[in-house]
Amino acid sequence: MEERIDVFLELFREPLPDHLVEIEAYARENNVPVIGRGTGDIIRYYLRSVAPENVLEIGTAIGYSALFMREYLSVNAHITTIEKIESRYTLAENNFKKYDKDNKITLIKEDAGDAIEKLRDNGNKYGVIFLDAAKGQYPAYLPVLVDLLETGGVIITDNIFHNGAVINSRYAVTQRDRTIHDRLREYMKDISEHEGLNTLILPVEDGVAICQKK
Ligand code: SAM
Repeated sequence: MEERIDVFLELFREPLPDHLVEIEAYARENNVPVIGRGTGDIIRYYLRSVAPENVLEIGTAIGYSALFMREYLSVNAHITTIEKIESRYTLAENNFKKYDKDNKITLIKEDAGDAIEKLRDNGNKYGVIFLDAAKGQYPAYLPVLVDLLETGGVIITDNIFHNGAVINSRYAVTQRDRTIHDRLREYMKDISEHEGLNTLILPVEDGVAICQKK
């Protein structure tokens, strides 16, 4: 049913530009995890409704979602995106050279934990933050991300169900995944109970959380 709904929804989606279709296909063939079309719908919706001047992405991979977001930015808006793995950010850089000719995207090649603290300490603010990396770190990142967010801005977090495993008892997940399982549950509790955030958790694809700063 889910697959059929997705095929059906595709009829109503704005077509993706050719370069994004190509990068998406490359990612699929090379096992690079990138946002699905459903998560893309949510991001597009918020980019248009919030119309942020500045967007922050944590987890660039090969640049697909940053280039996707670039399509829906207002004229003078800018994206800062963070990736720490060299093999990934090298491909992202090549994609940005080809498809971000007017330099709307800045790539930070660094661990996200360090990078977001520096961005905060330098007084940066963002209208939309897309969180798509290092799931085990999400509870630790949250206070910094809330500081980085403008009032009325949103944090969009992808894959919070961790391939569905988050709904299982922690004893049903493998030892290796237990820390991520615990941290994602902690993150869901933190964003749901946070007094400064209005939170919506959507069962779209692998779970998407939207937190708007009050
Ligand atoms: N947002 C991308 C897209 O949809 O095109 C996909 C991002 S992928 C799911 C997650 C990325 O986060 C990986 O490329 C991984 O190397 C990166 N990552 C994981 N932990 C990180 C960290 N602590 N700092 C920076 N990047 C990190």
